[in-house]
Amino acid sequence: MGRVYNFSAGPAVLPEEVLREAAEEMLDYNGSGMSVMEMSHRSKPFQEIIDAAEVDIRGLMGIPDNYKVLFLQGGASTQFAMIPMNLMKNRVADYIVTGQFAKKACNEAKKYGKVNVIASSEDKTFSYIPDCSDLTVSEDADYVYICENNTIYGTKYKELPNTKGKPLVADVSSCFLSEPVEVSKYGLLYGGVQKNVGPAGMAIVIIREDLIREDVLPGTPSMLTYKIHADAKSLYNTPPAYSIYICGKVFKWLKRQGGLAAMKERNVRKAKILYDYLDESRLFKSSVNPKDRSLMNVTFVTGDAELDAKFVKEAKEAGLESLKGHRSVGGMRASIYNAMPIEGVEALAAFMKKFEEENL
Ligand SMILES: *Cc1c(COP(=O)(O)O)cnc(C)c1O
Repeated sequence: MGRVYNFSAGPAVLPEEVLREAAEEMLDYNGSGMSVMEMSHRSKPFQEIIDAAEVDIRGLMGIPDNYKVLFLQGGASTQFAMIPMNLMKNRVADYIVTGQFAKKACNEAKKYGKVNVIASSEDKTFSYIPDCSDLTVSEDADYVYICENNTIYGTKYKELPNTKGKPLVADVSSCFLSEPVEVSKYGLLYGGVQKNVGPAGMAIVIIREDLIREDVLPGTPSMLTYKIHADAKSLYNTPPAYSIYICGKVFKWLKRQGGLAAMKERNVRKAKILYDYLDESRLFKSSVNPKDRSLMNVTFVTGDAELDAKFVKEAKEAGLESLKGHRSVGGMRASIYNAMPIEGVEALAAFMKKFEEENL
C-alpha cells in the first residue's frame, strides 16, 4: 500500500525524504555499524547529531545568542508545569486562554501560584483570538502566557499580545517552524515536536538566558529545571536521542526548502486553497473568525453531525486520512503542516467539492 495524505493533528505527517533517509540509516548510521537508536548519547556521532540540530534550528529561526535551545522530554504538556516552576519568582502569572491547551497550562500553573486570566475566547468556543493590544497586565506578573496556534480550534495570533514589558511565554507546538518568527519578542517559546517537526515525546524550548534561574520554586525536580538542562546542553540524562536525530533531519529538509520564509509562502498558498473554497461552499463552513485563521489547522463543519461522519468516512476511503475534528468540538479538521504537499491539499479540496455536489 502506498502512502496516504495524512491530515492528522499530531503525531502528524513528516517529509517523505526524511523518513526514507532514516530508513536507509536504520541499521548502520553513517558507517557506525549501529542505529542511532542503539548509540550512546555520549558518543561522538551522537554529539555531532545534537550539535548540528542546534546549529540548524538556530539558523532557521535566527535565534539570538542570548537564548538557549533545549531538547527536553515529556512533550508539550510537561512544560505546563515546568514554566511556572522555573519562572514564577513572584508566584504570579497572567494567562490568555484561547483553547484547551492554554486552559490546561493555566490550570497547571494554578498549582504553583496566583494565575490571572487576562483575556479569554471561551465565550465563543474559542473561535477567535481576543484583542490583546492593550490588556491589563498584572504589575507583579512573572510572565504572560499564550498558546500561539490553537490546534483544536484552528485559530492563530496574527499579532503577539502587548505584554507591557513582561516576558512573553508561548506554546508554539502546532505552528513551530511554519513561518519566520522574531525570537527576541519572546522570553520563552516552546513546542511539542510531533505536530510539525518530529516524533512525539519531545519538546524544544527556546529560552532567554536571564529567565534561566537558579532560584526555582522549592521542590522543583532536577529534570524540570531549565538551568540543569541548559548547563548540560540537553545531556543531563539520556535525551530523546532518536527524536533529536529526526528533528535534525527535518531542520536540514527545511533548509533545503528555502527556510521559514519559503515555508510560510507555501503554507499560505496551501491554506488559501481550503479557505477560499470554504468561503464559497454551500455545504461546508469555517467557524473561525476569518482574521484569526490558522495556516496549520483548518477546521470546518457541515452543521450536520451525521453528514460530517459520512464525509470523514468517505474521505478516508479516498486516501485522505484523519480529517475528524477534535473530540471536544466535532466537525472536521485538516492539519496541513509543513510536510503536507500542496497536492494533498488540492486533493482534499477536490474531494470536498465532489462531496458537496453529491450531498447538497
Ligand atoms: C498537541 C499540543 C499540546 C500537547 O502536546 P503533548 O506533547 O501531547 O503534551 C500542547 N499544546 C499544543 C498547542 C498542542 O497542539
